[in-house]
Amino acid sequence: MDDARHLIEQKESQGKGLGILAVQNIPCGTRIIAEAGLLRINRDTLKVPDIINAFKRLSPSQKKLYLELHEYACDAFRRATEQEVNQDWEEIPKLHRRVLGVWVANCFDDVFLLGSRINHSCTPNVHFAYNSALEKETFHAIRDIRAGEEVTIMYINGTNRTRGQRQDELKKWGFQCNCPTCEDTPQGRKKEEKRVELFKLDQELAKYTCFHFEHGPEDSWKKALKVAQRIAALQKSEGLLDIELSNSYHDAARYSAKLGDVSMALLWTEKKLEVVRYCVGVDYPDWQSE
Ligand SMILES: [Zn+2]
Ligand SMILES: [Zn+2]
Repeated sequence: MDDARHLIEQKESQGKGLGILAVQNIPCGTRIIAEAGLLRINRDTLKVPDIINAFKRLSPSQKKLYLELHEYACDAFRRATEQEVNQDWEEIPKLHRRVLGVWVANCFDDVFLLGSRINHSCTPNVHFAYNSALEKETFHAIRDIRAGEEVTIMYINGTNRTRGQRQDELKKWGFQCNCPTCEDTPQGRKKEEKRVELFKLDQELAKYTCFHFEHGPEDSWKKALKVAQRIAALQKSEGLLDIELSNSYHDAARYSAKLGDVSMALLWTEKKLEVVRYCVGVDYPDWQSE
């Protein structure tokens, strides 16, 4: 076995239905799951019949397990499907609707029997990525996880996004997020304030990268470096240790280099690589793109 799935179990987690929990302490960087997708279809050229046909190719036991996964077809997906097959959703055979509902509720790169059971959090403790050398999706602990703690991933691109923006994207899965950052408590609201700040900083950084130089490029780079450093520090202190943190370090390295500060550029690059290493592992074949 090339993963550590013995460290997790599927269990009822308080008030949230089934979830994946750690049965032992899991150190940061552990490859908890490495799992091949079930349907193995190209997402870029995807048509509804491709999903149905891929399901038909599964073995009887795989079909059974597939159909046990959570099903949810949001309105947008139903409408898109109706348009594509030129048929009302309700007229589509029941089994096919179920296959499609499982697909859309569980698919990130493919549907995974184990990985797709991991719940969402806006401050996750696991990162998932497709490793093309292994032809598997890997799920890595991005910090130390205690025994009994729920294992979570972020379904959306939500690190530097506000609650409203995150919830909007989560509509696809049909649930209201109640993670520690989204909960309506003093602690939750405090965490959310930082996310609003991260969103604003993210917008500000984008502005500097658009060649809007007020007082020459050097001035812009100095400002951009400051913002990138602030974003990285905020993400770190908020426990947002996912791959986006490596992007922030990457930005800091880039602007340090532009300003001629080679030693700081190297330091930020080291930090970036440390994040990439625990998020995807040293055998990840596409390090450049991370
Ligand atoms: Zn949340
Ligand atoms: Zn991630």
